[in-house]
Amino acid sequence: MKQYKQIKQDYPDKILFFRLGDFYEMFDEDAVEVSALLNLTLTHKGDSPMCGIPYHAVKNYLKRLLDAGKKIAICEQMSLSDSPKALARREVVRIVTPATVVEEDFLTDTDSSYILSVFQRYCAFCEVSTGEFRLRELGKENRIASLRAIIEQIRPKELLVCEDEYFLDSDFKEAVDLSPAMITKLPPWYFSTSASYKLLCEQAGVSSLAAFGIDEKNRIAGPAGALLRYIRETSKSPVDHITNYTLDVESSYVSIDESSRKNLELFRNLYDGSSSNTLFETINRCRTNSGTRLLKNFLNFPLHDKSAIEDRQKRVKYFYDNSSELERVRSLISGSRDLNRLMTRIILKRAVPRDLTGIKQSIGTFFSIVSEDPQRYSELFDSVLTDNTNLEKAYSLMQEIDRAVNEDFLGQFNAGEVIKDGYDSILDEKRTLMENGNSVLSSYLEEEKSESGLSILKLGYNRVYGYYLEIPKGQVSRAPQYFIRIQTLVNGERFTTEKLKEFEREINLASAEAENRERELYNNLLASVQDISSTLNAMGSFMSLLDVYQALATLAVDSEYVCPQITEEDVLEIRGGRHPVVEKHLGSGKFVSNDLDMSVRFCLITGPNMAGKSTYLRQNALIILLSHIGSFVPATSAVIGLTDRIFCRVGAMDNLARGESTFLVEMQETSYILRNCTDRSFVIVDEVGRGTSTQDGMSLAYAIMKDLIAKNAKTLFATHYHELTMMDISGIRLLTPAVEDSGKSVVFLRKMIEGAASSSYGIHVARLAGVPYQVIREAKSFQNRHFADYGVNKGQSSLFSSSDESIVEEETLPSSAADIIKELQECNPEQMTPVQALILLSKLKEEAQ
Ligand code: ADP
Ligand code: MG
Repeated sequence: MKQYKQIKQDYPDKILFFRLGDFYEMFDEDAVEVSALLNLTLTHKGDSPMCGIPYHAVKNYLKRLLDAGKKIAICEQMSLSDSPKALARREVVRIVTPATVVEEDFLTDTDSSYILSVFQRYCAFCEVSTGEFRLRELGKENRIASLRAIIEQIRPKELLVCEDEYFLDSDFKEAVDLSPAMITKLPPWYFSTSASYKLLCEQAGVSSLAAFGIDEKNRIAGPAGALLRYIRETSKSPVDHITNYTLDVESSYVSIDESSRKNLELFRNLYDGSSSNTLFETINRCRTNSGTRLLKNFLNFPLHDKSAIEDRQKRVKYFYDNSSELERVRSLISGSRDLNRLMTRIILKRAVPRDLTGIKQSIGTFFSIVSEDPQRYSELFDSVLTDNTNLEKAYSLMQEIDRAVNEDFLGQFNAGEVIKDGYDSILDEKRTLMENGNSVLSSYLEEEKSESGLSILKLGYNRVYGYYLEIPKGQVSRAPQYFIRIQTLVNGERFTTEKLKEFEREINLASAEAENRERELYNNLLASVQDISSTLNAMGSFMSLLDVYQALATLAVDSEYVCPQITEEDVLEIRGGRHPVVEKHLGSGKFVSNDLDMSVRFCLITGPNMAGKSTYLRQNALIILLSHIGSFVPATSAVIGLTDRIFCRVGAMDNLARGESTFLVEMQETSYILRNCTDRSFVIVDEVGRGTSTQDGMSLAYAIMKDLIAKNAKTLFATHYHELTMMDISGIRLLTPAVEDSGKSVVFLRKMIEGAASSSYGIHVARLAGVPYQVIREAKSFQNRHFADYGVNKGQSSLFSSSDESIVEEETLPSSAADIIKELQECNPEQMTPVQALILLSKLKEEAQ
């Protein structure tokens, strides 16, 4: 207990798994907490509460504790002392946290598992399981929005922050606390620029980070150093696989803020947060887990560089144009395993024997894919295929693993199960000796039986006494003189003999030698894998890319997408565009395609509910996004000018988690757009102003529209305030979904045409929704009474004949100029709502005419 308490002192905020023989035990508060969390029996050791779990079942328990937001320090018995009375030496060998684990059982195959470290205006994030390590500067104007965007973008499992900043800056704290990630507050010295810089250099084995674009004064080193230190400390390993840092320059990606990301429903839909009906689910045709993660990465980091995008397009096109090659690669690629994660486990010495089989399979897949046309593939994907010596090594390694490793064995290293018979003559020899030992023993037993006349004699083995001969109680007196008693049981006694001891020594020796040899062979294999780790990692990356490109090509073929033309010019022209998700949902041929031409930079879209406005807005944003990841797009043709930012503000949505009202959120999102959009941005604004009163809402919508026009961003602006189309509309294009209105029934054609909506058909939709007839009638009559003169409702055929029409007709219009002037004098603009003002204005205009 003294030893326990001493070790626990260093890990006050972690659960300490204290190894005692075959168990990990927990004591005191840890025991109380964990027994409740995992439903374990709580016992006592002296005064201390205690609970334990068998060591071989540890993974399952660890996972549940991680899910419950705990960190676990694993304390092992390092060496058992010779004397049974002395203490074993114990040491914490690693700390298990949600994103520093690399074992297969703890990772989600198709999700990256990032740790994000933030300090001031800088951040760094790492995926320990693959060694990806990136540094990034947060936005200058709005650090918190930028932080939120990156949290939404990479969805880290863990967040590292500086404790001072966390406690002093409440906005920062709020943004951090909202993330579901596990938060670790580190002392400020972790983030020191100079110490961090040194640490980063040491890790990469370089004397300066110039090659990575980071100089000594760059404060971005701070959070990166803290991150690296944290990873090293928790894994208690030099994490040799982290050797490369990527400096993310914000301008090299299309920037999409947090709420736009959510609103575009890239990975999670807005109604239940699941992946169904999302863009990713719709476009994903990857066949491997690493490919799936990479495609997510593509979608999360759309490129803002024409040639980089065209590079990707070229590769997708290669498969798009070669259907037989596409089919071949598509079926082969699924044979590859998660090579980069496998390599990380090898380098961190956390591999299990079956990981070698995974590596063998992946190498095999690689060769069967490229051997068809190595020239072609080395042109398409430079790098890996150039280093022939290492490729040859990889090939023979694959054959070696195939000869050596038993594919069927799944567990941790266990003597006798890992290396196949017939692979190594020395191992075979030792194994034969061991097995001979067994037959020697059984013939020895027969010998003793006949010599002593004790046919009842049994041979057994236990860990404390080794091999023994057992005689049942009644016969014990017949034991020969040379039998040495070692144990007395209720119904018999156990003996050994000099000869048996000798046999035992030989057998033990043989089995120890066999185990050593097997371990040596296994370690040699691991070492040869590690020898060519950079080649194998490159192979892994190559196959992930290949999977993504085949997936994008498959998508383009099976969903009839086209390759967009990317241009530096400020144009945007989409012909026959479709919404990828809605189209898939409706089934083929049912979706009505629509064009987009942004030569007029502001489109005001009005139209009835359910006519397809929102769909149109989003489809264009998604097509632009897909174009920037190098994918083909759902259209018949598309010319896409490079876009720096995509903004997407859609219908009112509560953000209860943040405790903000719908309207506040709406305005926050809008204000972010207005402050950040440029003339190279694409903006969609759907139904802004819905969350407040009509007057406020319409006035705001109008002002926001004006401001966006002034900012010159390419904007699609959908609104149910049809009055906006009666304002000054010079320089903007009016669009509306076509509606076929026969007077009796209304059909939405889903085709965008020039013009303004003549009616919102709200009453029509209400009727379709089954609102009682008298309510519909009342609404209709109210509309006729109060909005009869109101431009939008004019000239529209009546869906319902109203018995109250007389009321409308009774109202007489003033006819002289004096009446108009009088009316103007009497009105009080300060007290009017915008609607009333508009009604009055259009009425006066009509009178004047
Ligand atoms: P609005 O925003 O005008 O109320 P939505 O865009 O939400 O309308 O569209 C309503 C429904 O109409 C969608 O869920 C979809 O099923 C259907 N829809 C929209 N656009 C199309 C289209 N172009 N082709 C076929 N169906 C469409
Ligand atoms: Mg809508």
